[in-house]
Amino acid sequence: MGYNYNVILAERAQIRKDRQLYFISKERDHTMKVLVINAGSSSLKYQLMDPQTQEVLAKGLCERIGIDGRLTHKVPATNGKYEFEIPMPTHAEAIQAVLDALTNAEHGVIKSMSEIDAVGHRVVHGGEKFASSVLIDDDVMAAIEECIPLAPLHNPANITGIKACQKVMPGVPMVAVFDTAFHQTMPARAFIYAIPYEYYEENHVRRYGFHGTSHLYVSRRAAAILGKPIEELKIVTCHLGNGSSVCAIDGGKSIETSMGFTPLDGLPMGTRCGSIDVSIIEYLMETHHLTIEEVMNILNKKSGVLGVSGVSSDFRDIESAAAEGNKRAQLALDMFCYKTTKRIASASAAMGGIDAVVFTAGVGENSPELREQIVANLGFMGIKIDPEKNKTRGEEKDISAADARVHTLLIPTNEELVIAQDTAAIVGK
Ligand code: ADP
Repeated sequence: MGYNYNVILAERAQIRKDRQLYFISKERDHTMKVLVINAGSSSLKYQLMDPQTQEVLAKGLCERIGIDGRLTHKVPATNGKYEFEIPMPTHAEAIQAVLDALTNAEHGVIKSMSEIDAVGHRVVHGGEKFASSVLIDDDVMAAIEECIPLAPLHNPANITGIKACQKVMPGVPMVAVFDTAFHQTMPARAFIYAIPYEYYEENHVRRYGFHGTSHLYVSRRAAAILGKPIEELKIVTCHLGNGSSVCAIDGGKSIETSMGFTPLDGLPMGTRCGSIDVSIIEYLMETHHLTIEEVMNILNKKSGVLGVSGVSSDFRDIESAAAEGNKRAQLALDMFCYKTTKRIASASAAMGGIDAVVFTAGVGENSPELREQIVANLGFMGIKIDPEKNKTRGEEKDISAADARVHTLLIPTNEELVIAQDTAAIVGK
């Protein structure tokens, strides 16, 4: 397929070395601007940021692409929020609307599109082809397309987003940042499923893991907060949001994670079932005369804490219902916490130790109650939080008890920053 994975790996290693030099050598007054794009099937999130100062100049969301089209545009410096109804038959019109908003005389933040130095695209699945971010060219596009069978819902949308940008912004360098890349360091014993080996060799069936950009970001922040080289740390990162995953990061490398071949595996989530006995699929098909598509839809969209509580997929609604005495809502929370507790312990066992546990994403950053419940049974491992310090949300903070042997950290994730910095490093080279 004309694609040399080892060469790419070597190039990326060199880029990492060069990154430091690149930022040092860049003139102080030259601010680079990177547009970060996260394209879904009918939505597109964007941020324009300076990867060096980390300033977000503007950010927003295009929704209802292919239906009608709505743009929400925010300018943090002025607290400005603007909403527009703009026809978006395809992603190309959505990107054009974003560029118009960014360059608009009233609510824009740049004079012209030429101020955008590069675009960083979030791409969900890089398969085994990408262990780090990469400059997009025809070979890379072909490789991302080859990964479509592994992520049929996500990769086509990401590809559409890239193509739309290429059409509207010809000549601007673009970088792909993969959700799976960070987990490519997992050893075979962690990524192999216990099914006939030829399904791995021929069909690439293995654990890939997702949320990699988030796990990478919060683990690096954890090392910075603790003032230690990441190479010396064993960190368990808990990305708990609508989608959830736990990752064991040993010396800065992912060695185990809970999501698998797809993001359906691992923890129960807002609407996804997480790990279940696969025989349930056949049993439900037979007893309810369902097709495989119908069962997979149930497991992806009607399960998780929504399925158990019957209330909502949003943890805020479930916490409120539980507080009012709804027993199924309480069961959904208890189940979610219990399974997360077990995952933290097993991730620690995978590393043979733990120095820090990190909470991030919607639930991890915002729910003191669930954080407390998740670590309540982990005192035997030296994990203990200070209930007073834990009464906070959305800020970087060490919430460990004074006598804890393991640090518990709250770290808001910032996937866009990683995408912007990777993009700057690769394009700057
Ligand atoms: P996504 O996976 O969609 O990126 P997020 O990381 O944004 O999800 O997390 C969204 C979830 O975070 C919501 O569904 C909600 O359940 C949860 N959440 C947000 N704020 C709170 C809160 N204050 N308390 C509990 N849960 C919260």
